[in-house]
Amino acid sequence: MRISAEREILLSNFEDFNLSKPLLRAIEARGYEVATPIQVDAIPQVMKGGDLVGCAQTGTGKTAAFALPTLHRLLTAGKRNPPAKEPRKIRVLVLAPTRELTAQVGESFAVYGKFTKLRHAVIYGGVSQVPQVRKLRSGVDTLIATPGRLLDLINQGHVDLSHVEILIFDEADQMLDMGFIHDLRRIESHVPAKRQTLMFSATMPQEIRKLADQWLNQPANVRTARTSAPAEIEQSVYFVDRRKKVRLLEQFLINTAGGRTLVFSRTKHGADKIVRQLQKGKIRATAIHGNKSQSARKRALDQFKSQSPPVLIATDVAARGLDIKDVEHVINYDLPETPETYVHRIGRTGRAGASGRAVSFCKSDEVFQLRGIERLTRRKLDIALDLPDLTSHVAPEPTVGSGKSSQKGRSSQKGKKKPHWQKGGRAKSAASPANGRKRSATANGQSTPAGGRSAQKSGKPTGNAGSSANGAKRRGQRRHSTSL
Ligand code: AMP
Repeated sequence: MRISAEREILLSNFEDFNLSKPLLRAIEARGYEVATPIQVDAIPQVMKGGDLVGCAQTGTGKTAAFALPTLHRLLTAGKRNPPAKEPRKIRVLVLAPTRELTAQVGESFAVYGKFTKLRHAVIYGGVSQVPQVRKLRSGVDTLIATPGRLLDLINQGHVDLSHVEILIFDEADQMLDMGFIHDLRRIESHVPAKRQTLMFSATMPQEIRKLADQWLNQPANVRTARTSAPAEIEQSVYFVDRRKKVRLLEQFLINTAGGRTLVFSRTKHGADKIVRQLQKGKIRATAIHGNKSQSARKRALDQFKSQSPPVLIATDVAARGLDIKDVEHVINYDLPETPETYVHRIGRTGRAGASGRAVSFCKSDEVFQLRGIERLTRRKLDIALDLPDLTSHVAPEPTVGSGKSSQKGRSSQKGKKKPHWQKGGRAKSAASPANGRKRSATANGQSTPAGGRSAQKSGKPTGNAGSSANGAKRRGQRRHSTSL
């Protein structure tokens, strides 16, 4: 992976950390030459056993920043694993919001632990628990899990967390956004209080700070950049009429053919429509979003990672946290509803110092969102001028209904989806709810896991009525828990 010159001064050799030999071998085999800034800050702190709060977007090398020193501690510190006859105990627990991210973290543990005898398991919902339980029975040192499936397996007696020495929260803000605060609290209560705790989050809202105060002990704070600063990526905006967006996309793709391109659509329906329109123009495209089955999503991702990738059209939650290498272009076909989402989106390109380009298509009723992005990132996006037939060189007059006001307008229309801030969480739009259950809308528009744990526990039916009751219960708990 190419690291830009100005970042190089912040980087350090992995040898300087005194990591165990098998880990250095794995780093070499992986081809990493220098550590990224978050790795420079986090690795020594974690190696010496301290707690840590890391504010870092994906793409900064944060997985290695926690996985490498964690593996090092497993190899060198604390209780050694029992003799061969006794099953291994779970000594490290990593919690992550989505199946995709969990699988990805699991792959990283496999890569970095390749030359050790350490074992790990990955568990998430939406698939049979049988192989996961079998793997757990065989004994693992590290467990990487989504909160919902983990709680299910704890309740069934398949998981014992009483030997955990290191607890890691990855993408904590997304776990909270998806409504997992209560699940996280329950899981935390199963882990010994005397432990090392690491919390990573792309953003640091007040809620995360409060959790960190409660669960971490004098943590070191590391951050790669300002919370709101996107990675070093070339960013520009095309001002375009609504009816010309598809043609603009086609033309952009033709001009940049060969590169790996990720396109963000605001809605799942919109993503499918873009795919159909591109296919009409003989451009290979595929979509990834929450209405697709797990196997369809995997297929789309595999194709995108291949040597001849189709254009991938994604919704936000489907794409967040995904580590896809060499994404050259991120296109905001629709500008996101919140500026923070823009930062997450463009984090798909320019990962770990590689160069990348992000372009945004802005129509008149998106100017408000554009200005919000510019305020958050503290930079004005360059106006792209290379396709003058389809675009304008000046921002259109913001039309009524721009940004939040347009959301209001939209949500007042009967049958239209409400924006997430009116629903009390983004859970409903989750591409892959971490507990793997289908979510069902309750009478008041809230979404809860259908047939979820609380329903099972209370013995209530798991239809909408039950979900609604549990939804109310969960909301009450959430209010309580966030006012710590
Ligand atoms: P992450 O932020 O953990 O999702 O990592 C983003 C990408 O950076 C992954 O593809 C890693 O394999 C890669 N990566 C992590 N650390 C380094 C490094 N020190 N040098 C080059 N690439 C790295």
